[in-house]
Amino acid sequence: MSGPDNAAPAYRDDESFARTMDDRDPLRDYRERFHVPKLPDGRDVIYLAGNSLGLQPKTVRGSVESALDDWASLGVDAHFGGKVPWYPYHESLRKPGATLVGALPDEVVFMNGLTVNLHLMMVTFYRPTDDRYKIVMEDCAFPSDTYAVKTQIAFHGRSPDNALIIAKPREGEHALRSDDIEDLLEREGSKIALVLLGGVNYYSGQVFDMARLTEAAHRNGCRIGLDLAHAAGNVELKLHDWNVDFAVWCTYKYLNSGPGAVAGCFVHRRHVQDTSLPRFGGWWGNDPKTRFRMHLEPEFKPLKTADAWQLSNPPILAMAPVLASLRIFDEAGMAAIRAKSRTLTGYLQFLLDRASNDPDKSGGRFEVITPRNPAERGCQLSILVHDDLEPRRDALQSAGVVCDFREPNVIRAAPVPLYNSYRDVRRFVRIILRLD
Ligand SMILES: *Cc1c(COP(=O)(O)O)cnc(C)c1O
Repeated sequence: MSGPDNAAPAYRDDESFARTMDDRDPLRDYRERFHVPKLPDGRDVIYLAGNSLGLQPKTVRGSVESALDDWASLGVDAHFGGKVPWYPYHESLRKPGATLVGALPDEVVFMNGLTVNLHLMMVTFYRPTDDRYKIVMEDCAFPSDTYAVKTQIAFHGRSPDNALIIAKPREGEHALRSDDIEDLLEREGSKIALVLLGGVNYYSGQVFDMARLTEAAHRNGCRIGLDLAHAAGNVELKLHDWNVDFAVWCTYKYLNSGPGAVAGCFVHRRHVQDTSLPRFGGWWGNDPKTRFRMHLEPEFKPLKTADAWQLSNPPILAMAPVLASLRIFDEAGMAAIRAKSRTLTGYLQFLLDRASNDPDKSGGRFEVITPRNPAERGCQLSILVHDDLEPRRDALQSAGVVCDFREPNVIRAAPVPLYNSYRDVRRFVRIILRLD
């Protein structure tokens, strides 16, 4: 991760500035590749909820229809004879998926849902012993992760009361400091089996220093896994080089692959080579050379790739949108996506800052709890509202803004570089201030 953004343009809050930025945006044509929901009057909504459910790429329909057509015309023979044959279908996701998260192709597999993958990874990488049995998570982790971790701990006959450590921000702060997490690992490391962090925290939008914390975890003999639900397709990742043990992510948020879409999973090369690791097995994790010998080959022979954690044959109709979407990321490239994201989210911060300096506008009634350093945040800003959330929520909803509200008083807005514009951001801020 690089330092503060020195290349931020001199932002202005007039309409013509937003228009000029849009005209000069190298990614501006990508918006056309997505279906943007419409208001009753035919205008596009201002869609800032790509951190919850990304918009549908127009190529998704063709990708799904092609799989349906192959099924209709070929039946079972589409496994090998389809336009994108089903038997190796998951392999066509591997390369663009690996590029996206900074991995080698044999370290990545798309399968199941995120929480399922988290459980499968903990089966392998959370192996508590009498000395080392604790799991560290960040405060305000996504509830599914907390449920997964607590039930894994209980599954091993232990209690979350003493086996789960929550790393919390300091009093009065909203983001966790790397120094504090590192201190925690130095202090308690000999008892910690697993560190599980969101690469980007879903609530605050904070990006953790994944390289540094991986090193700190390993220095203390802990395994480290990342939940990249809010990081994949949002920030640049180098999972292989960072030496992360495993990672899981969903593909329906920034990755635009549709509701409940098939999730991603990363296992570091040094682990995929080790066929002795404990895991749950299924036929799609088995060596393809013997897979179809079926009952003649009762011994599970795991592949030496992340595919070894695959259980079932892949759901082709659900994988088709992922394939279509990954192609867009492959074409645009995360470097260009991230470059626009920094400027676009920087613009959102600038407009909100101006409002909070102007007592007639926000009058200190809200604050951004996401870190200000562009290296420590992705698309999303989380806005903590100090006065009543309801009128702002009503104003946003009736003006056709789609964003996310978290109880009790946080608005999460995520300008997504592939389909959001500077004008979207400007209109959002004017509406949240109820100027429009
Ligand atoms: C969105 C999200 C999930 C959702 O889990 P699913 O298994 O995909 O339903 C889990 N964890 C995090 C951190 C998330 O952001």
